[in-house]
Amino acid sequence: MVRLNDIISKVESYQPSADLDLIRRAYVFSAKAHQGQVRKSGDPYLIHPLEVAELLADMRLDAHAICAGILHDTVEDTETTVKDLEVHFGKDVADIVDGVTKLNIPFNTAFEKQAENFRRMLVAMAQDIRVILVKLADRLHNMRTLEHMKPEKQELIAKETLEIYAPLANRLGIYWLKAALEDLCLQYLHPKDWKDLQEKLAATAKNRAGYIEEVQGILEEKMKEGGVPCQVKGRVKHLYSIWRKLKTQSMEFEQVNDIIAFRVITDDITHCYQALGICHATWRPVPGRIKDFVAMPKPNGYRSLHTTVIGPDVQRVEIQIRTEDMDDVAEHGIAAHWAYKEGKPSVRAGDEQFAWLRQLMEWQKEFQDPADFISTVKVDLFADEVYVFTPRGEVKELKRGSTPVDFAYLIHTEVGNHCTGARVNGRIVPLKYRLKNGDTVDIMTAPHQKPNKDWLNFVKTAKARTRINAYLRKEQRRRAVEMGKELLDKEAKRYGRSLQKILKSNLIDKAVESSRFPKAEDLIAAVGYGKVKPLDVLKKCLPEDVIDKGPQEDKKPKSGFGKLLEAVTKRSKSQSGVSVAGIDDMLVRFAKCCSPVPGDPIVGFVTRGRGITVHAIDCEKALALDPERKVDVSWDATTNVARSVELRVITDDKPGILATMSQAFSSAGVNILNANCRARKDSRAINMFMVTVSDAKQLRKVMKEIENLSGVHSVERVSA
Ligand code: MN
Repeated sequence: MVRLNDIISKVESYQPSADLDLIRRAYVFSAKAHQGQVRKSGDPYLIHPLEVAELLADMRLDAHAICAGILHDTVEDTETTVKDLEVHFGKDVADIVDGVTKLNIPFNTAFEKQAENFRRMLVAMAQDIRVILVKLADRLHNMRTLEHMKPEKQELIAKETLEIYAPLANRLGIYWLKAALEDLCLQYLHPKDWKDLQEKLAATAKNRAGYIEEVQGILEEKMKEGGVPCQVKGRVKHLYSIWRKLKTQSMEFEQVNDIIAFRVITDDITHCYQALGICHATWRPVPGRIKDFVAMPKPNGYRSLHTTVIGPDVQRVEIQIRTEDMDDVAEHGIAAHWAYKEGKPSVRAGDEQFAWLRQLMEWQKEFQDPADFISTVKVDLFADEVYVFTPRGEVKELKRGSTPVDFAYLIHTEVGNHCTGARVNGRIVPLKYRLKNGDTVDIMTAPHQKPNKDWLNFVKTAKARTRINAYLRKEQRRRAVEMGKELLDKEAKRYGRSLQKILKSNLIDKAVESSRFPKAEDLIAAVGYGKVKPLDVLKKCLPEDVIDKGPQEDKKPKSGFGKLLEAVTKRSKSQSGVSVAGIDDMLVRFAKCCSPVPGDPIVGFVTRGRGITVHAIDCEKALALDPERKVDVSWDATTNVARSVELRVITDDKPGILATMSQAFSSAGVNILNANCRARKDSRAINMFMVTVSDAKQLRKVMKEIENLSGVHSVERVSA
């Protein structure tokens, strides 16, 4: 009865109007139902539901939830039925217990079971959040008594707790519960680390207490001087968070000096910011560590100002600043939002903090397929990973935002290199489809398929990126060598020689020696890339008199390099209007960033596998490119190529101005491909025009004309 009285006085303290008698009756009922049952620890079974109920009282739940806590195992483990509970305690209590019971599906290692478990939990949560809170309290007490389980079972339960229950507590904003669960998980999943950490903390406890006192004293004094009424608390962060820091930053315990967190609790928001200022005036803040969750609360409703400063003894000190209300939410999370007024706590639909929960309820209605539902919901709770299945049901973990291509490379490099498409949950999806939790992914491959450069735009994992790049580099080089050989051969033939002979007689080695390339193949590739002229190579490996005699092509104009050059030039001219120094490259394209038009000063860059990309000479992107790849390019005056350019015109927001501008464009012979106009708040309008021009001169002229129109404020060329 001692325990019961504790629970009752706790409930009374926060909800004096609660039906305490109902709680007493639940106690009697549960005691009878569980009579004779014992826990693995040898304790009477009743201890467990009472512990759970007390945790629920710590969460400040209503009497119905407390009753449900006391009764939560009666349907599962005794003769009691949900109907019995409804008769004795009403539908509300019975429903919560029913919800909790339905979550108790046998524990299974398979991820699918876990996913199903998780889905049920979310569904239950959407129906009545108290079901989950009972479940969380149940899990915490089970974790606290985990020592009585077999080691294998301990590990499984701890893992599930860390993967599902702790994030859930976090999502609900119940910080202390999350921390308690995580610490227990650490204890069972990494017992050595846990013990080690405990000992180290104990050994340094005395020093730390002194330090906490010192900082606390300074903070209190400075806040008082600054006129900020507040309470200052200092505490050691929870074990798991220290442990994770040690692991993720691979530090030694001695190096981690920010294991203490201070909290300044004040009365209003103005004082919060003032307190932040005082902290920064007292100690130097660490850049990048200042976070304003007051202006931008976390999705679970958490609000606080965070900063880290260099405190006494050059130690990093973390400080959280918030109001009492914010502190309440930070500690109790969802429970801090309980409305007891009507005696029936529920998540109020209007609460912005729980928009995600409302969303959840809506999703639940929409999704017929549990897999779909899980996928959508889990993303929300586990922000960083997605878990997907192979067709054989194996679980694969990928970075969030990963695509079937990432998945394919995760399976095997060859699968990645040859993947042509994917089926997700039986449906064919594009390769850039973003995988969702619970997706079953089936990769289709074909022997002829090769990695595509475009894949780099959407793959998410480092593995896929590295493999694709490696393939493209190899492929690019192969093509460069091929092209280099062809160019050298054609050029050699003009002098009556052939590349085959030059290679056979090792004449090429002379050219390699005097070049900066280690191997003949590298030199040939450089010719292919357009970095080295074929003739320069031949000059090194053919006898001088052969070169001096000059090419014989004039006699046979229809063969040799001249023909190729002609063909290539023709092609590149007709396509781009750009000629490339050295050799005329086979592929020329314009960079989207600066989109140069004929007449603009330009520069070319050899692009992997893509020929040459032409940038405006002052393009910022181009300046950042590897100068090694730079080639001289010029506009070919003889070709006339229309290029598209985007213009931004700021005008008055008045009727008729668009028509006037269109008129000006067309009389300048400029074609409008696309126009998009929208009004701004300041009674001006932004007009975006995609136009085609034949050269920079024409562009300048038409821009000038537009600029001179009345009502036009500015004309700019837009670079992406
Ligand atoms: Mn239980």
